[in-house]
Amino acid sequence: MQLYKAQYIYPVSAPPITHGMVAVDGERIVEVGPAADMARRYAGAPVTDLGASMLMPQAVNAHTHLELTALAEMGRAYVADRSFTRWIVELVKTRRGITNDVLLEGARAGCAMLSASATAVVGDISNRPISVEPLLESGLYGVIYHELIGPDPANAAQLLQSGQEQVRRWRAEYGEQRIRFGITLHTPYTVSAELFRITLPWVLEENIPFCIHVAESPAEAEFLLQGSGEIATILYAPDARAIERMPPAGRSPVRYLYDLGVLKARPLLVHGVQVNRDDLDLLAEYSVPMVHCPRSNFLLNCGRMPIEAYQEAGVPMAIGTDSLGSSPSLSVWEEAISAAATHRAAAVDLDPHELLRLCTLDGARALGFDDTHGSLEPGKLAHLAVGRLQTAHEGEAEKETTAEDMLQALWRGEVSMGPAFSAS
Ligand SMILES: [Zn+2]
Repeated sequence: MQLYKAQYIYPVSAPPITHGMVAVDGERIVEVGPAADMARRYAGAPVTDLGASMLMPQAVNAHTHLELTALAEMGRAYVADRSFTRWIVELVKTRRGITNDVLLEGARAGCAMLSASATAVVGDISNRPISVEPLLESGLYGVIYHELIGPDPANAAQLLQSGQEQVRRWRAEYGEQRIRFGITLHTPYTVSAELFRITLPWVLEENIPFCIHVAESPAEAEFLLQGSGEIATILYAPDARAIERMPPAGRSPVRYLYDLGVLKARPLLVHGVQVNRDDLDLLAEYSVPMVHCPRSNFLLNCGRMPIEAYQEAGVPMAIGTDSLGSSPSLSVWEEAISAAATHRAAAVDLDPHELLRLCTLDGARALGFDDTHGSLEPGKLAHLAVGRLQTAHEGEAEKETTAEDMLQALWRGEVSMGPAFSAS
């Protein structure tokens, strides 16, 4: 038995405790409570005193592309005149020029960044697929979604078969302990309706984790609605037949997925910026989780997700960084700091407690890892994050008299987050 003591403990599933302790046996949490009670109950157990800090569950990064970590140059800074579609074309071209070895090293570095930022669970998209080995080696938990892209309905059956074989191979080879295996159909504008239709029975029957990028850019919304815009003129321009294969759906991206029956499978959706009230009601109807990636949306000129409308409609959410190709870091804590600022600029104040839940328990639920992660509760894994006021704000710890103050400081960017201890 090992005790971890801190000025504040925020279990997420329960109110914060001032001067608390977490009792850990092996890799599991045994109990969380006030330090005085815990010290009596577990007298003689060694205590690690983390001092003027806040102990929390480690984060869940619900959306990454670890194999794009080597493309970090593309996500470092804002480019005013770079449209979303031009970014995709640039990404595909850049990736083509990078060897698999370099992508593999990037994925390893990405895993290390996640662990260093006190992240325990990840929802990762894999296309090549390159991130599998690094993730299995890393000690992280999560889902790897094998990515299928195919606008031509004539290839749908063959593509699905290749995806099924990949997922079955992974399951047979690695089991499904820390890392589970699923499928992602890239987007409604790069995947044929036919591929969506034939994938649906498989993911439903075999309970396959399923993910889709949707309603990200204004270009996607325009293309789905009327078949025009940059996706037609830039992305599909080199292939004249492509437009015939992807006729306009005549509706919003979310409504399109709903009408195809796809939302029934409760896929993990990503972005959801281009939505209206009707779309949100459809998502709420099936309780379909949406991953919010505000820094990626900003960097790719996609706009602001109306998070307040999601909350009002009761749509479950999670938060993710997306790849370093469209984000400056893989830290969900930094993503949430940015989310707070982005929405505040639109006169939407996010509740600091809800923001913490978004980074932890909500993400764990969205990925199906809430039996082991997302909160500090007996029986869950002791993946503890520790938040400390940064040097410039040291000495303010005494002034920060409540966990609420610490949480406010966290979202102002004044707290460093790290793992309480490294996994053995
Ligand atoms: Zn993505």
